[in-house]
Amino acid sequence: AKSSEASKSFTPPTADKPIRICWNENPLGMSPKAQEVARATVTLGNRYPMGDMVTLQKMLADEHGVPADHVLLTAGATEGIRAAVEALASPDVQLVVPELTFDAAEAGAKVNGITKITRIPMLKDWGIDLAAMKKAVADYNGPSLVYVVNPNNPTGAIVKAGDIEAWINSKPANTMFLMDEAYAEFADDPNFRSVSPLLKAGAQNIVLLKTFSKLFAMAGMRVGWVVSTPEVIGKIRDKTASNMLNFPAVKAAIASLEDKPFITYSRQSNETARKILLEAFHKLNIEYVPSNTNFIFQKLDVPLKDYQEHMKQAGILVGRAFPPADEYCRVSLGTPEEMTFVAQTLLDFRKKGWV
Ligand code: PLP
Repeated sequence: AKSSEASKSFTPPTADKPIRICWNENPLGMSPKAQEVARATVTLGNRYPMGDMVTLQKMLADEHGVPADHVLLTAGATEGIRAAVEALASPDVQLVVPELTFDAAEAGAKVNGITKITRIPMLKDWGIDLAAMKKAVADYNGPSLVYVVNPNNPTGAIVKAGDIEAWINSKPANTMFLMDEAYAEFADDPNFRSVSPLLKAGAQNIVLLKTFSKLFAMAGMRVGWVVSTPEVIGKIRDKTASNMLNFPAVKAAIASLEDKPFITYSRQSNETARKILLEAFHKLNIEYVPSNTNFIFQKLDVPLKDYQEHMKQAGILVGRAFPPADEYCRVSLGTPEEMTFVAQTLLDFRKKGWV
């Protein structure tokens, strides 16, 4: 189950072809079966993809154990987040977000007239302060949208299943939980759990946001999905462009769900890559936030700008600044071969005092 890109032998990066570990992409390339079917579907470019969209929607609904009307396909999770915020916006709604998280919910709030944005500072270990979020909801006299990315981006940290589930199950009045589980499949902390079973059990206060961009390596194809109640799904659908995705992407998503060996390979490759980078961190006494994702939030003893520049000269593109974590760099995980190169680069940097 090797993808074509990963099975190519490793060649050191160049300025033109750097190791791209700056955007949390999956380096493996799409499942070979997905690539094949996407190519073949180009010949159907004149047709609308409704039939296959219904198939994909049903397959995803089955995975979550819910009826098909609980699922909406979107152009990546980004569209799901934007449309959900737009659908649930009102003049008095408050968006509660951790200070350091994926920015799509806040961006959506800003363009939808939500003026009350409550940013909750991070815990000392860069975890999400659920207790403070809960207090912000309880203290607010109006509806709240709570955005929780779990595991979180850019930190890679999880919120404990027991904590988030207890809060959701307590059904705080007028509160909708936007649960972004873009990276859930990479989590290996036993305290992590998806909220999917809560939806299956009938929860009314969850919008679950998912994507084909990460585990399935389909970031460029733009397919995501939303799971919620039919009523909320209907409201969110009204904010999308008729829920119409491109045909090759839909076919590729179906093939990806069916390609179980690729799913296993994708997860294992990420785990191996993570291990290689962590070994280098341990050797060099570099601190980091425990990662449950396809990236690691690494602590720096040098300015981020210098680190980025030295890495770039070595052919490696690392993450941008994530204030207020000014002493950290987000390093996405490439292939194991790429991470071996990155690990060697780090050892060389230490000799020069660059890390
Ligand atoms: N949610 C989180 C937490 C992300 O980090 C990202 C992208 O990096 C997305 C959603 C967007 O994913 P998509 O490519 O599906 O729009």
